[in-house]
Amino acid sequence: MKKVYAGIDLGGTFIKAGLISPGGARISYFKIPTEVESGLNTVRDNLIKAGKRLISISGRKRMKLCGIGIGSPGTVRYPEGIVTDSSPNIPGWVGTSFGGLSADLKIEVRADNDANCMALGEYMFGAGRGTRSGFYITIGTGIGGAFIYNGRLIRGASYAAGEFGHTALKYNGKKCKCGRRGCVEAYTAVPALIQSAKKLAKKHPYSSLRKKLDGLTSHMIFDAFKKGDRAASEAVRLNAAMLGSAVGSVVNLFNPEIVVVGGGLAEAGKKYIDELRKNIIAFAFGSAANSLKIRSARLGNSAGWIGAACLNFDKNNR
Ligand SMILES: [Zn+2]
Repeated sequence: MKKVYAGIDLGGTFIKAGLISPGGARISYFKIPTEVESGLNTVRDNLIKAGKRLISISGRKRMKLCGIGIGSPGTVRYPEGIVTDSSPNIPGWVGTSFGGLSADLKIEVRADNDANCMALGEYMFGAGRGTRSGFYITIGTGIGGAFIYNGRLIRGASYAAGEFGHTALKYNGKKCKCGRRGCVEAYTAVPALIQSAKKLAKKHPYSSLRKKLDGLTSHMIFDAFKKGDRAASEAVRLNAAMLGSAVGSVVNLFNPEIVVVGGGLAEAGKKYIDELRKNIIAFAFGSAANSLKIRSARLGNSAGWIGAACLNFDKNNR
């Protein structure tokens, strides 16, 4: 019987789930709504529904299912799978025990923080393949981060490592969603990029963004940036400068082999990555920056569930 691993990415809007082979081949994939608005019991029921469907697909394909991995928002105690700090994506999620799902589904369930799972997915089968140490960031509405060192996730003393979005960029700076001030996320996540592009568009009379101010998205900003729009270019360069200085600090601390950038900003493409590279190199020590690789994530929206599936690969090591 061929072995297969199941992964679930629990997001604020969708539960993405699928099966992969030990070599990372995608065997099956589906997504269902999370239904956070219907309450935590519904979320839990939907997780069980996804788990049962994964079990039945692997059964139909006559494959041996070697466990289900779940990537969850918030801080997750590993390997027990208990949420110890919640995230705004699923309010009230603290205290959830994924171990309980193991009994419901009658199969081993492992859960970890969603950013850790994304990093693991990219490390195993995406942009980080073949490297040993890396810093993985995901930039969207918020910012997630994770470290892999010598092939292992660094989870920290209480499983809260890698919260790059909430490291300080500016003392007593802009208010962040986490309640603190001056966080990297408050300055460089997608909402901050949109806000600064709007401000700059008002200063540049010929900017193409001026007509789109109401429904402005990061996609539109990057599109205009690629076409050389002044306001968009200034906004993107400022974003890359701030993010680059913060990533440069991490590079000085940790000296990774690779930095992988995923999420909404990854779609900005090579021109953005080049801009980011310039700034990281300006802030990092030469010894750490010279050999540093900076890449866009490759697995896109699938990194989370694929990485979650990898949690069961080598139970002693992960
Ligand atoms: Zn914060």
